[in-house]
Amino acid sequence: MSDAAADASRDDPTPDDRFVPAIDCHVHLMPERLVAAIRGALTDEAGWGFPHPSTQGEMERTLRAAGIERYCALPYAHKPDIARELNAWVAERADTSEMVVPFATVHGDDEVGDVVREAFEAGARGLKFQCPVQRVAPDDPRLDPAYELAAEYDRPILFHGGTAPMFEDSPHVGVERFRAFVDSYPEVRACCAHMGTFETEAFVDVLAANDNVFLDTCFAMSSAVGESMAFDPASIPDSVFEEHSERIMYGSDYPNIPHSYRSEREHLLSRDLPESTYRDLFHDTAERFLGER
Ligand SMILES: [Zn+2]
Repeated sequence: MSDAAADASRDDPTPDDRFVPAIDCHVHLMPERLVAAIRGALTDEAGWGFPHPSTQGEMERTLRAAGIERYCALPYAHKPDIARELNAWVAERADTSEMVVPFATVHGDDEVGDVVREAFEAGARGLKFQCPVQRVAPDDPRLDPAYELAAEYDRPILFHGGTAPMFEDSPHVGVERFRAFVDSYPEVRACCAHMGTFETEAFVDVLAANDNVFLDTCFAMSSAVGESMAFDPASIPDSVFEEHSERIMYGSDYPNIPHSYRSEREHLLSRDLPESTYRDLFHDTAERFLGER
């Protein structure tokens, strides 16, 4: 590992008490082979390098040092017939660590209802869809059985539903596809990752109009985001966080980020937000999303 990479993977030994204890709602814990494939694709397409370890033990050491209490472990299936095994793997990881909040996924061409029911029965706390990579929009009717089960089991869904970082031409993302889902399933708690970048204003409007819509801060609000993506976190005003902190939650995309873990909270902490807003962002809202409060 180069010095720069070692520096990026290290975290602040004295966590800010506005941050701890924190929940990270957006972490990718997946089998090594899959992580390597995802990173390879991102390096090819975006030229990103990845300074972070991807094994559970090493990841949790960094997260714990930063003040993370629990994290949502998000799998996604880029092709059919792998979700079942992947979901079982994540569920097993959760048996070994109190930090893991296991999520599940399903591909549009799988037996969607069977895979999702099995995952929920095995303890999955929610679903994750990486829409552009899975080539499935939030309002794709093939996912209806998954959404009906999410409503039945009261489990939330986290979508990569925005056009960032390189999906502006994808037909599977964008605010209209997400809004169509929300209109069909207003009772299901649904989060759009990355503050909805690159359509942040439109996604904030959807959030403001729907009580079960959430956004996560991951990647988009990193103080280092400008180094790898054309986005300025300062473009989102403080008022968005103050007014909607009950439905905006901290996430990081760790360990598949080209910048330091610390930078994921650094920009947010540089704002002079009220203490109660920080508690929501870094902890309480994730519990709301998970249906714990
Ligand atoms: Zn992600």
